Amino acid sequence: MSCIGTAGHVDHGKSTLVKALTGIDPDRLTEEKERGMTIDLGFAWLKLPGGQEVSIVDVPGHESFIKNMLAGVGGIDAALLVIAADEGIMPQTREHLAILDLLQVQRGIVVLTKADLVDADWLEMVREEVAEYLKPTVLAGAPIIPVSAYTGQGLPELLSTLEHILQTSSERKNIARPRLPIDRVFSLTGFGTIVTGTLLDGMLKVGQEVEILPQGKKSRIRSLQTHKQQLDETLPGRRVAINLANIARSELERGNVVALPDQLRPTVLFDARLHLWAEAPRSLAHNTAVDLYSGSQEVAARVRLLDTDELQPGQSAWAQLRLERAAVLARHDRFILRIPSPSMTIGGGEVIDISPRYHRRHQAAVLSALIQLEQGTPE
Ligand code: GDP
Repeated sequence: MSCIGTAGHVDHGKSTLVKALTGIDPDRLTEEKERGMTIDLGFAWLKLPGGQEVSIVDVPGHESFIKNMLAGVGGIDAALLVIAADEGIMPQTREHLAILDLLQVQRGIVVLTKADLVDADWLEMVREEVAEYLKPTVLAGAPIIPVSAYTGQGLPELLSTLEHILQTSSERKNIARPRLPIDRVFSLTGFGTIVTGTLLDGMLKVGQEVEILPQGKKSRIRSLQTHKQQLDETLPGRRVAINLANIARSELERGNVVALPDQLRPTVLFDARLHLWAEAPRSLAHNTAVDLYSGSQEVAARVRLLDTDELQPGQSAWAQLRLERAAVLARHDRFILRIPSPSMTIGGGEVIDISPRYHRRHQAAVLSALIQLEQGTPE
């Protein structure tokens, strides 16, 4: 069981591709979800030729894409970066690729859609342009496959390539402490409160006592379900719906995390290694207000730059992030930083220490301690 996500510029053919691959129309899923009628996971899914089941996270619209991609990405095994062959790389292609790069989504396929609209020379030119653009990113050397959802060209090759890359080993880290960022909450007559999400670490089982963070509310897993099938337990990477006991829908919201009691602690201050995207629209000064995205959590924050006063696009630095609300993070988690109005991705980074002291800036001792932590001294 794997989970993949689509990315790419609006109108480049993401939904049409998902529909061609799965027979499920992602726009219709959105509708069903909004009417709250089903306990559908909100995601299309397909069976690969070898029998493996794959959920596809495909979210129409750029802003909701960003939010949902970030929410799902911790659980994504591979990304399909969709680029229309007739248009090539566009602004949202760049931003989505930057997010995949900042989050270090290692496995991906570039799908050149609408191949029926262009001739062979044009297709080759776009392929070269894309291959060149991928070079400095996490997707350097990724397969580039021309397809047409209209003629069916390239779809079998896409599926077999997908099967192949999902077989290569994943670097999914597992801290053995289960955490499931909640992306939807609803209640269903006869069931009560249901949440959906993708487990990031460890294992969750029916009957377990759980804790909902950051509010610290206790609950119990009454049942677990994936694609209309009941489960006894679930592992990382599988999208699930959880029926939670003794908790009302109103006590939960998207961004909360399901964990085992007393294993994880919310934080409002953490140390990080920050990277400002090479194509960020501006530099990042000490104390800048940003929105931080990690899992399905979205929190306003301020960036305290520890070893510099201003970060230029393409540069990295040590920073301390001060959150306006508590968030649930673990060491080595990746996060994205965006600036509000106009909402734009500017960079991201890796969590290094979730219980730091407040650091004075430009302190050599603090910086060398952080470098040691990053290089892997025990947690
Ligand atoms: P999304 O915004 O990326 O999800 O894009 P859509 O899937 O909604 O597609 C945008 C437009 O491109 C629609 O009008 C589709 O019919 C059209 N389209 C999608 N795939 C293909 C294709 O393979 N060939 C052609 N000619 N048009 C396509």
